[in-house]
Amino acid sequence: MATRRTFLKNLSLLTLGGLATGKAVANNSVSSFDAVSEATSVTAKKQMGLQTYSLGQELLKDLPNGLARLAKMGYTELEIFGYKEDSGKFGDYNPQNKLLIDPKEYKKMADDAGLKITSSHLTPSVREYTPENMSKFEDFWKKATDIHAELGCKYMVQPSLPRIQTEEDAKRVCDIFNKAGEITNKAGILWGYHNHSNEFKRVMKEGEKPDPNARPWDPPKGTYIEELFMKNTDPAKVMFELDVYWTVMGQQDPLEWMDNYKDRIKLLHIKDRWILGDSGMMNFPNIFKKGYEIGILGYFVELEGKKGHTQFEGVEASAKYLQSASFVK
Ligand code: MG
Repeated sequence: MATRRTFLKNLSLLTLGGLATGKAVANNSVSSFDAVSEATSVTAKKQMGLQTYSLGQELLKDLPNGLARLAKMGYTELEIFGYKEDSGKFGDYNPQNKLLIDPKEYKKMADDAGLKITSSHLTPSVREYTPENMSKFEDFWKKATDIHAELGCKYMVQPSLPRIQTEEDAKRVCDIFNKAGEITNKAGILWGYHNHSNEFKRVMKEGEKPDPNARPWDPPKGTYIEELFMKNTDPAKVMFELDVYWTVMGQQDPLEWMDNYKDRIKLLHIKDRWILGDSGMMNFPNIFKKGYEIGILGYFVELEGKKGHTQFEGVEASAKYLQSASFVK
């Protein structure tokens, strides 16, 4: 039987899912329920994720305090990076950095700060996506899945593009993506692919050549790599984390991709040239509106560093932007 507490939790989850805002709950027929104000205060906290890459090497230097700072800014969940397949620990992309965090310690520190590690970016070191290498990929994803399950991750995401020159290459890559998803799914973890801008390059079938007589206004030949990934992966095994900034940098409209692949895109990377909302090139009100409409499960803020500023500065300014934005639930 549902207790009052679980009822409230479910109510707040429903509202987070975009069925109603806390305000709408207070105004509709359940407003007489004595705990609506409590439920409304639960929903007042926005679901706000951060990809820890945004902090470069500043976070690992003092992880407990860094995590506490993020929680204070309003972040509620993290997508981490830096998984090392040899040790099963987490570092960063700097080869000089020998500091590695044990997954159990990482989880404990995040728990203590009130943050959840829900996602992780990781890429196998095997580079050749061939059927002969399938078992190496399986080994990588099996070991990584065990470790990420301990962290309590819900998503494991590959953020880097294998070498693809033809449609056939893309299909071979998708066979391995499907296998990765099959492995993580067994542990209840969704497997996803994260794009940059190169996924919006077109490739053709093996042996096909561009038409030398094509006029500039003729439709280009070939298919976007991202589209080949969507079409050749199994929707039950592979989802997509759409990086909206890199989609724009790939000369694409993120809203159009979300519309066309509403059942496949489950997560977003919310990124701008630096601080969110500052550049004028990202239409975040429309991006969030569309994201909620297609039922995204979450999003992660991502920033590159900027010379003369700490990375924490950009991460904090972006948190303020989202906290004060009425279009972010
Ligand atoms: Mg990204």
